[in-house]
Amino acid sequence: TGSAQTHQFQAEVAELLNLMVHSVYSETDVFLRELISNASDACDKIRYEAIARPELLAGDDKLAIRLIPDSAAKTLTIADNGIGMDRQELIDNLGTVARSGTKAFLQGLKDAKEGLGLIGQFGVGFYSAFMVADRIEVVSHKAGTSETWVWISAGGAGYEVAAASDEQAKAVPRGTRIVLHLKEDAARYLQAFELERIVRAYSDHILFPIELVDDKGEARQVNAASALWQRAKSEVTTEDYTQAYRSIAMAFDEPALTLHYKVEGRQSYAVLLFVPTTPPFDLSDPARKGRVKLYVRRVFITDDADLLPAYLRFVRGVVDSEDLPLNLSREMLQNNPQVKQIRSGLATRVLNELEGLATKDADAFAKVWGAFGPIVKEGLYEDHERRAQLLALTRFSTTASDTLRSLKEYVADLKPNQTEIYYLVGDSIDRLKSNPKLEAARARGVEVLLLTDPIDAFWTMMPQEFEGKPLKSLSQGDLDFGLIPLLDEAGAKEEKPSSSDEDQAILTAVKEALGDQISEVRASQRLTESAACLVASAQGRDRELERLLARQNR
Ligand code: ADP
Ligand code: MG
Repeated sequence: TGSAQTHQFQAEVAELLNLMVHSVYSETDVFLRELISNASDACDKIRYEAIARPELLAGDDKLAIRLIPDSAAKTLTIADNGIGMDRQELIDNLGTVARSGTKAFLQGLKDAKEGLGLIGQFGVGFYSAFMVADRIEVVSHKAGTSETWVWISAGGAGYEVAAASDEQAKAVPRGTRIVLHLKEDAARYLQAFELERIVRAYSDHILFPIELVDDKGEARQVNAASALWQRAKSEVTTEDYTQAYRSIAMAFDEPALTLHYKVEGRQSYAVLLFVPTTPPFDLSDPARKGRVKLYVRRVFITDDADLLPAYLRFVRGVVDSEDLPLNLSREMLQNNPQVKQIRSGLATRVLNELEGLATKDADAFAKVWGAFGPIVKEGLYEDHERRAQLLALTRFSTTASDTLRSLKEYVADLKPNQTEIYYLVGDSIDRLKSNPKLEAARARGVEVLLLTDPIDAFWTMMPQEFEGKPLKSLSQGDLDFGLIPLLDEAGAKEEKPSSSDEDQAILTAVKEALGDQISEVRASQRLTESAACLVASAQGRDRELERLLARQNR
């Protein structure tokens, strides 16, 4: 048609763009990582689609990403020959906020003081380009179609979409070309060495060649473009791993733990997984989706194959299979027995590796646990097969120490005649510590686990045991420290048999006074200082769980 149509941005996008355009955020380099990552996704997509429709790659099957600085025009162009976008996709993808990361960023801006510092942490995708450009043109030609479209915006409230000119259409036979009209203070992104530096730092392990085009039009590849996970461990440095982690996980921190191995045999696959140091933004996403990428013989298939259980969703990385069929549809992935086998192997391996870290380097493990412990504990609730291993990994606040303790340590320090592991669930350590239910344990020097994560109320609902010792809640049922001796003798003498006449008279009086509000009044050895406390029955729900469920309206 040729005539441009003006569109309004979705309100969130307008808000975001306003932020980007007026950004004083100094680490603007992230925009290049985001645009290269999109170009790489587009190349992944066409390669995947072309398995079923090889004609999509006809005429140009060498997928690549090109960076073309133009000093005279003050533009930086990022071009790919990937899948491309048609008119509607330009509108849908570049006019709305779809990705959870961007939503989380906007939410984070409202919640946190760090403000724009979150750009790097969350990644704001395509829109981050408005930090360095005051006008952006996106020329795109979707593979398998005959039209080329142009999307243009100067930030603000809206954008235009129009059919491409003949010249533009000729320049983009397939894929997408993004032309950034750089702001005055972003002129450094016209310099080859600057672009090369950023590519090496953040995008080195993108599997497609990233080529830098000089002013004579000559292209030179600036990234390694190798599948690091296929290399031998001995050839890979810590630095390489960190870079791979950053480019695969779109992260800026260091990996806290790196797993790199190959499985050979009935099934062969290479694994490169990372545990981050800082929690990724999408951990609290209700979908609880993992992000481990599945490749088949170096071809990216999906990052939606749930290769790890949900309670390990903070783990990032790649699995590259030699045996799976390339044309495995995303739907088929769920039921494929080979994928199932990979899943099971991966989860076990990650837990083994965490266990290894806990033994080798307790401090490093404590940090991992601090960041992801509450997530891992979801496994106590849902992964029955690995529950023993998960319990062994779990670290607890307890009454015995200011540092976190394992159940192994707890069991090693049992009091004489102690056969159970005691815990108390509540909102905060401080409140738990002043709970009268702890008195009897304290009088006997018995250690009590203090559980304060929301998930704790759930996994403790099911009977749990560690090395043959059952876990028992202090706020539930009849608790009998019976044979565990009191710490000081004076205390021991004061303890009276609970069936004395005097006791009975008090119990009856209390029961009469409270009537139906309670089901029973009992003398107990539970308290040493307080006069009375409320306890749930041994069968019913834990009191803390009741409170938690009430809060969540269940
Ligand atoms: P995300 O990559 O997380 O989806 P972005 O804001 O980076 O979010 O990109 C939004 C969407 O725009 C992408 O999901 C993709 O559909 C589309 N897109 C962006 N860049 C390209 C590109 N070079 N080629 C094809 N599609 C693209
Ligand atoms: Mg993106």
